[in-house]
Amino acid sequence: MIDDSIDLENNVTESEDVTESEDVTESEDVTESEDSSESTLSSEENAALMEISSLPGVGPVTTKKLQDAGIYTILDIAVRGPTDIADATSFETDKAVELCNKARLKLVEIGKFEKDFVTATEIYDRRQKIERISTGSSNLDELLIGGVETQAVTEFYGEFGSGKTQICHTLCLNVQLPVEDGGLSAGAIYIDTENTFRPERLRDIAVERGMDPDEALGKIIVAKAFTSSHQELLVGELGKVIEDSNAKLVIVDSLMGHYRSEFLGRGTLATRQHRLNRFMHLLTRTAETRNVAVVMTNQVMSAPDAFFGDPTRPVGGHVVAHTSTYRLYLRKSGKNRIAKMKDSPYHPEHEAVFTLNERGVDDPVDAKAKSKKK
Ligand code: ATP
Ligand code: MG
Repeated sequence: MIDDSIDLENNVTESEDVTESEDVTESEDVTESEDSSESTLSSEENAALMEISSLPGVGPVTTKKLQDAGIYTILDIAVRGPTDIADATSFETDKAVELCNKARLKLVEIGKFEKDFVTATEIYDRRQKIERISTGSSNLDELLIGGVETQAVTEFYGEFGSGKTQICHTLCLNVQLPVEDGGLSAGAIYIDTENTFRPERLRDIAVERGMDPDEALGKIIVAKAFTSSHQELLVGELGKVIEDSNAKLVIVDSLMGHYRSEFLGRGTLATRQHRLNRFMHLLTRTAETRNVAVVMTNQVMSAPDAFFGDPTRPVGGHVVAHTSTYRLYLRKSGKNRIAKMKDSPYHPEHEAVFTLNERGVDDPVDAKAKSKKK
């Protein structure tokens, strides 16, 4: 019965897709040859290229089911991946895999995705599109070689009061600044799992930084996640929110809070890690495909087996360790805070001193005097 309906749907849709996909590819061909095609397309043309119904063999029923699951564009399909789509729509896994492959092919065709095999030059060119957001402290920016990067997941972990949430708040404002001032002239999305998002604090920091507080708050979209599954649902819907809000920064503060309180005991660890893995991959794919910076905070636990150095370790185990692009450890040092790059494919394991004050994240007074910073 179920198979029948799927076949029926595919049959119906194939015929209607012939015309639709032809239309799309034609317009695509015109632009695809030029490298600058993406930027020359109007937002309507871009939206048409991204329409799920333009995929061959995908008709209104499939499209509707995907939309009901928060999957609105071809890019969303590619980002969510087959397992997630199968779960969200109750499609058979084979069908979800087929959809993802079609989406991927289409994205390669229209130049939104790289081919499977690319030259190092092509990867280098893509990496040239990476943009950076200032943290508010020139020391910390230096440690990050220019600030928090798009196309990457940056994790800040450390004990309570080490400045994780303050960094998130300051970044939400800085991303709005023009490029010459350390921003990307864009908005931010804040997923708050611990109920520590404070618009009043943002207003204060905005005023100190010479920004219009009302305007600044209007460019930050906030979602409170009440449970780990709600947190996963929110990340699944990110694509559309990013597009609608012109966001270049996604914050998850904090990553593990709900998972830690909901999954108690050894017996639940495998399920927790499985769910966490999917969540992290979705975040990573979102960062890469949408060219946004993902910043998440993480808690620490003490590692009694560590004989040397600081016996604190981020929670989340290997899953989080392997999927975060950069991991920075924050610790208190009197009034100041010290950030250490712990894991990065290209940053050295250096440290930077910063402080927390009325401007949010800032350089310590002595460092400011040294660099004669404004
Ligand atoms: P947790 O693990 O509890 O979430 P956290 O690392 O997120 O901790 P933050 O909330 O970022 O910690 O940092 C709290 C610290 O920020 C305070 O201890 C204080 O030092 C500093 N802070 C907060 N508000 C202000 C302010 N208005 N002026 C100066 N410093 C402030
Ligand atoms: Mg916090």
